[in-house]
Amino acid sequence: MVKEKSANFIIFGGSGDLAHRKLYPSLFRLYKAGYLKDHFAVIGTARRPWSDDYFRETIVASLKEYFTDDEKIMSEFAKHFFYQSHDVNDSAHYIALKNLAAKLNDQFEAENNRVYYMAIAPKFFGVVAEHINSEGLKTKDGYNRLVIEKPFGRDLDSACELNGNIAKAFPEDDIYRIDHYLGKEMIQDIPNIRANNPKFEEALNNKYVSNIQVTLAESLGVEDRGGYYETSGVLRDMIQNHIMQIVGAIASDDPAAKRAKDIHKNKTDLFASLKNLTPEQVDTNFVRGQYDIDESGTEKAYRQEDNVAEDSEIETYTAGKIEFDTERWDGVPFYVRSGKRMPNKASRIDIVFNDKVAELGINANTVVTLLIERTNNQSILINGVNYAESAQDFIKFPEEAEFTTGREAYASLIIDILSGNRVHFTLWDELRSTWKYIDSIRERWDSQKADFPNYMSGTMGPDASEMLLERDGNSWIWD
Ligand code: NAD
Repeated sequence: MVKEKSANFIIFGGSGDLAHRKLYPSLFRLYKAGYLKDHFAVIGTARRPWSDDYFRETIVASLKEYFTDDEKIMSEFAKHFFYQSHDVNDSAHYIALKNLAAKLNDQFEAENNRVYYMAIAPKFFGVVAEHINSEGLKTKDGYNRLVIEKPFGRDLDSACELNGNIAKAFPEDDIYRIDHYLGKEMIQDIPNIRANNPKFEEALNNKYVSNIQVTLAESLGVEDRGGYYETSGVLRDMIQNHIMQIVGAIASDDPAAKRAKDIHKNKTDLFASLKNLTPEQVDTNFVRGQYDIDESGTEKAYRQEDNVAEDSEIETYTAGKIEFDTERWDGVPFYVRSGKRMPNKASRIDIVFNDKVAELGINANTVVTLLIERTNNQSILINGVNYAESAQDFIKFPEEAEFTTGREAYASLIIDILSGNRVHFTLWDELRSTWKYIDSIRERWDSQKADFPNYMSGTMGPDASEMLLERDGNSWIWD
């Protein structure tokens, strides 16, 4: 049942790429579905002096790239949008914003509910949150929710500092840290799949699992984001957040837990049990790579990309072995990898069972694959075959209907924000553990010169990635 929501969104960075490519199309989806109808307004803020009319034109133009609906519907939707030019450091601008928000709240009867969305550079997150508080933008009798985009810091120290700044202005319960992988259907469905397939869940531990593999592969290079990438690299951009959260979905205890508090506790406990790495263990357990030209010489090497240093030591590929110090997972390697310029795009979890699993009536050495981006309506593979066509029936989707709902990640997360559901957002305690872990790898890498470039575009990454598994007698399932 769709229930209309009332809210006033204030989007910091309302003229930017994220706002136009992700947020406005998602809000439009919610508008068409009836979640947003009469009682919502959106204020876009950015430095440029735009009029409301011009802002609305940019919104309709972006929507046209994604939807074929009648322009009249898009224009009706855009009437809920208002623009306020704004400099993040100027207190007077926050007062103007506060007055506009109060006026729109009355005009649209938004019930004093406010969503403050940081679609702005991370260096501004703290200062904006502090001003929202100090200039009195928060309402008294509605909710005030702060949405923070990634990256949440670039190491543990900067993440702590950022968290300290926003925590002064917003209580943890009102902070929604986005990891858009947590908005993806498959990631949200994993607890259901585990809870509804008892035999699969019974087998999900170190007695029956040989290893678990998580792959997020891209075929593209950095494209026009070289400047950003030079400050990040795949370890910070993908492993610390998306990969860790996927591992959290498959490995945390009690998938049947329903309350956000319990779900978060299970995940926090899991990340707190990450086996920390000594510098020598970083050398054996983690591999870094950077792409070179392709075989034909048509694709550029990373170091030839725009805004990338000629001697850049930034990694575009990482593979690693993560281990947990828990009764359930002790001894089970979680092999993770993410890279650019791999042969194909792939987002998948491969669970490799051992031969003891036959005790449970599951064929020895079975591999269950959960496809994070569904292809051809396939979601779960058993030994490479769609589960419905497999001879084994220990795992299936709990509800077939889930296949066709087509929830879009950002739209799904915005509904959660409007509903006060924090299940699919990351908590500070989780990030603290994952940053600590990632920092130990980064520090080791920063202390040694990288032998880059070390893999050709269009290949599966450096050879060391294969060797990482071979050493344990394992191999990548997706190769
Ligand atoms: P962008 O550069 O396209 O947009 C930045 C916005 O901030 C613009 O509206 C700009 O006018 C505004 N701005 C800049 N300086 C300002 C100032 N001093 N005062 C007020 N406004 C100012 O960036 P983006 O790609 O939209 O990214 C926004 C945020 O979202 C970043 O934190 C980024 O890391 C995150 N993010 C973006 C994407 C994406 O797909 N673009 C994906 C994940 C996370």
